[in-house]
Amino acid sequence: MSELHYKLDLLKAMNQKLTEKERMYQMVCESSEEAILYYSFDRKKVTVLGQWKDFFDFEIKDTADIAKILENAADDESGRSRLYEVLYLEKSGRENAVEECLMKEKRIWLQFRTKVYYDNSGNPTDKVIYISNVTKQRYKDEELLYMAYYDSLTGLYNRNYFVQLLSEYIRKAAETNSVVSVMNIDIDEFNKVNDGMGIVMGDELVQQFGVFLKDLCRENVIACHLHRDVYGIAIYDPSGTRTPEQIYKAIRSRTKQPFVLSDGSAVNITVSVGVAEYPEAARSALELINYAELVVFKVKATGRNNIQYFNVPILDDFLNSVEVENRLKQAVINRDFELYYQPQYYTGNKRLRGVEALIRWHNQEGEIVSPDTFIPVAEKNGTIVPIGRWVVEESIRQYAAWRQQFGFPFIMSINISALQYKKDDFVDFLLEVMNRYQVKPFEIELEITESVLIDDFNAVSEKLKLLRGYGIRISLDDFGTGFSSLSYLKKLPIDTLKIDKSFIDTVLTDPSTRVITESILNMVKSLGFESIAEGVEEEQQYKYLHSIGCDVLQGYLFSKPLPATEVEKVFAGSLD
Ligand code: C2E
Ligand code: MG
Ligand code: MG
Repeated sequence: MSELHYKLDLLKAMNQKLTEKERMYQMVCESSEEAILYYSFDRKKVTVLGQWKDFFDFEIKDTADIAKILENAADDESGRSRLYEVLYLEKSGRENAVEECLMKEKRIWLQFRTKVYYDNSGNPTDKVIYISNVTKQRYKDEELLYMAYYDSLTGLYNRNYFVQLLSEYIRKAAETNSVVSVMNIDIDEFNKVNDGMGIVMGDELVQQFGVFLKDLCRENVIACHLHRDVYGIAIYDPSGTRTPEQIYKAIRSRTKQPFVLSDGSAVNITVSVGVAEYPEAARSALELINYAELVVFKVKATGRNNIQYFNVPILDDFLNSVEVENRLKQAVINRDFELYYQPQYYTGNKRLRGVEALIRWHNQEGEIVSPDTFIPVAEKNGTIVPIGRWVVEESIRQYAAWRQQFGFPFIMSINISALQYKKDDFVDFLLEVMNRYQVKPFEIELEITESVLIDDFNAVSEKLKLLRGYGIRISLDDFGTGFSSLSYLKKLPIDTLKIDKSFIDTVLTDPSTRVITESILNMVKSLGFESIAEGVEEEQQYKYLHSIGCDVLQGYLFSKPLPATEVEKVFAGSLD
């Protein structure tokens, strides 16, 4: 009896232990986010644990039911056969495998991780399939995938993918002897929108225009967002309505209407377009994109709102400017510059009024490089600031030395770039140099061009007023070449106006130039400015300009710009 009791107690204790273990398993399984399918090969029994109901609407009772999972998979043939392999892993004798699959009914992504146990003779004994929901992870991956190909702002292809597709077009075109056109499309004066209305509105415009370009895409036409306000379009085998001109036409007609942004504002835009074509311009995708961009720079520089095709001179200009840029940086360090001086004379008595300092660059080949070549580059890369400081110091130093030597005052005209004016310390720097060399303000004249005023008329004219307040003279250079509105002249704090050489060139031959020149002079007189004619080369021009009352003349007729030692001879002559 006691033995029986003992055995019963033992059984009870064992059962309890078992129930405890079972409970533990149950709890572990229930708290897990996975579903677990266990199969015993000996007993041919399937058990499911965990979150089965979250994943499937059917139950599994025996091994044949495992096939129901397969039926539920929304994958193609090859995806399904991969899943089959994982669910029946014992058939291939492997121990572990993983596969992910989208489920048809619940539209969730499941991961199946199978482990099969084998006995010593290699027969499967147990199989466990862990099933987990990886939908979130999957979408994250898809988002990454999306980002790898598309630009999230516009929904157009991104640059990388565009390059890939364009390379594909080029490969096809090489086989079929066709053409591929690449268009670079750049919104004109986008900064005005971005600065004026804020980045959010700027982005909106970029997005809306991108969506419009997307509509232009069809078979063999793709579009991408290259960066900021710049888009690319590639056309395989352009013909009929699928040509750069046709696309440009569509853009032109769309941009006749404003883009209406979410704050209600209506923005009118124009675009500049550059086109480069395979195989004529270049043979690789990146080159084509770069060349099309170069053409856009050219379009921008020549008035925007236009389309232009790549040609070799455009490339030459560019390579030249890159070369100039690199050498210029070195020249600034080496101080390879010299100032030439061109005399200016009063028209009436032909007496010397002053000289204009004009910079020259002695390059490593011993050539003299014209400022027309390197000043625009220096303005672009900022080296104009140290160059300009050198010009100011050198011309003022030279002037002080000449006044000492020759004993009479005249005017030293110095060309100043927009970037120099913008520097906060420009006025202080100039006053300091003048003070150092004991030069009077009325002996110095600063030549500015209209480009100085375009950016910020008010700020610049305040600075000019300040300079004039000290008595420094201000002269407006190249008048007639910029936006040249006579009405804004009234508001300008200037003393002198230089009529551009292009007027003087044709003043004798072209009646309309004559009318304009005369009306400019009348205006100048009524505003109380002094007038200078630039680039006077002929006696006839001099006589005519004298007759219409131009105050001062400068040009090859009297003297070319000369090195300091040469111009000293001119001064010596003036003393006679
Ligand atoms: P600019 O200030 O309008 O200077 C007048 C230009 O016309 C000079 O060219 C001068 O040599 C040229 N010129 C004068 N008379 C005649 C003539 O009768 N016939 C012809 N064909 N040309 C004449 P340059 O020296 O080549 O300078 C070109 C431009 O470079 C200048 O135009 C000026 O805008 C800029 N520049 C020159 N030196 C400096 C400088 O130190 N700083 C800055 N920022 N710009 C400068
Ligand atoms: Mg000048
Ligand atoms: Mg000029």
